[in-house]
Amino acid sequence: MKCVFLFILLFCSVFINAQIAEGTRINAKLQFIKKGKTVNVKVELQFKVISNDSLLIGNLRDYYGFPSLGKFMTELTGYNGTVVKKRGNADSINIAPFNNEVNFTYTLGYDSATFSDATYAPNVGENHVHFAFCQWMLPLTEKNKVLEYSIQVDNLPENWLLYSSVAGEAHDISFKGSLSEFFSATIGAGVFYKKPYTLKGKPLNVYINGSFSTGNERLAELGYKIVSYQRTLFNDFQFSFYNVVLLPKEGNTAGISIPNMFLCLIKKDVDYQKLAWLMSHEMLHRWIGNQITIKDTTSFGLRHQWFKEGINDYLSYLVLLDSKLFTRDEFINSINSYIRNIKENPYSNASEDSIKKVAAAGKYGVAATKLPYYKGGLIGFIADKEFLMESETGLHSRVKDFILTLLKNGKKIEGRIEPNEKMFFSFADSMQLPLYNLYQKHIINGSADFDLPKKVFTGVYKLEKVKYQVYDLGFTFSEKDSKFFASSVDPYGPAYKAGIRNDMEIISSTSVNRFSNAWCDCPVNMVVLVNGERKTVDYIPRGKEVQVLQYIKK
Ligand SMILES: [Zn+2]
Repeated sequence: MKCVFLFILLFCSVFINAQIAEGTRINAKLQFIKKGKTVNVKVELQFKVISNDSLLIGNLRDYYGFPSLGKFMTELTGYNGTVVKKRGNADSINIAPFNNEVNFTYTLGYDSATFSDATYAPNVGENHVHFAFCQWMLPLTEKNKVLEYSIQVDNLPENWLLYSSVAGEAHDISFKGSLSEFFSATIGAGVFYKKPYTLKGKPLNVYINGSFSTGNERLAELGYKIVSYQRTLFNDFQFSFYNVVLLPKEGNTAGISIPNMFLCLIKKDVDYQKLAWLMSHEMLHRWIGNQITIKDTTSFGLRHQWFKEGINDYLSYLVLLDSKLFTRDEFINSINSYIRNIKENPYSNASEDSIKKVAAAGKYGVAATKLPYYKGGLIGFIADKEFLMESETGLHSRVKDFILTLLKNGKKIEGRIEPNEKMFFSFADSMQLPLYNLYQKHIINGSADFDLPKKVFTGVYKLEKVKYQVYDLGFTFSEKDSKFFASSVDPYGPAYKAGIRNDMEIISSTSVNRFSNAWCDCPVNMVVLVNGERKTVDYIPRGKEVQVLQYIKK
């Protein structure tokens, strides 16, 4: 869903540590130790310092937002004369070097159960571990100082495989850079199904942990097809290796795109089409989001999510259709779901100003986050309306051509193309794409009234009003003393009919957040407490009947 740029959380790094000179080589050794239902990671660090003055360093800081990752740290010990102590509340660590050298170890005893609700936290199981650099390497100095890291992985448990996003051969990894440049650098190890492919003679590997109901071989093939199709489309073979990683994450269909790798965090019974979409979307972030962005100087950096996520998303469906991984019906279904998703989104008519107020109040949740995916998706589709057609030579799309031309001709600065709004929109205009007007209308002014083409694919699909029951959970959750209760139960709604009453305790629930990664268009399942007894409640969260425009096959 995301490209890594979204995740750089602002935090202040307080510890400068001048004793660690620019370019210092940090030698790290990692060891994975199986322990019950999880895996412990032992980290050994060794580096030189300019003086023997004490170093104060911060505890682990997860750039992906998992709070206080440092609480999983145990067995922090210095050796060869180095003395290491956690300070007070354990938010920082005090190190006394010896002979201008620092030597210490720590163990990360990750508790996988704690991570179950955090999609991008370290992914750990009985037989595997997968994490980002910032999730195990202590921030030794300020986050922009360039250091030289040399990482060795020793003594893997039997039958374990190892992979990384920074090196094709991951037993011995080295790179030079700062923590803020390399926070996403990934290492994973464990019992994996591995399918090796090659693309233009270079290794392209698919790693799958556990088994998915669709079958690992089929999923690996899907990953290969998506990567090879898109790299061929963009004529981009600038990689020495590429890894696709599939990891189990209960209740999720989420992903992330980082250099040399994309990762899917998915439930065991993930739907094949949904995974095809996710892989396509993540792979495309290599170009949209990670290489091309529209300059955004607004305070929350949310203005052009419609492009980074929405145009990316539209194109991800388009290339699935072009590569025959999606049928035309499946492509049209995606457009239909954009329309329904906008209709059901509480912010569907919100202007940019009011979205900013939501963000300023700290209430920019998942519904607001997802809205630009759908709106941007429809903007791409509408801009393409006269140009979208299939012929014997393939699928024609002006939006696709626009992105390809932008990549080819756009001015690159440090490998990135970042036009300002004026340049971006006048370039779109030169290709007869009315992106500026659509952006003004739907993103800045917030209109949810889309001027949808009446016919698609020379009239095979026609726009019609259809009757449709809008999503309605029928109550809201209220929290008290870490317990959840039903409130505002609509006496005419589906929850009431299923037996939910105000103040009833909800012990557990599935698929209740319409816009979360865990949502599916299926019945909700809840365990509630009635007169001290647990009761299971299932119902279809649909409410009043409305009319919605959808494309129907003729
Ligand atoms: Zn995304």
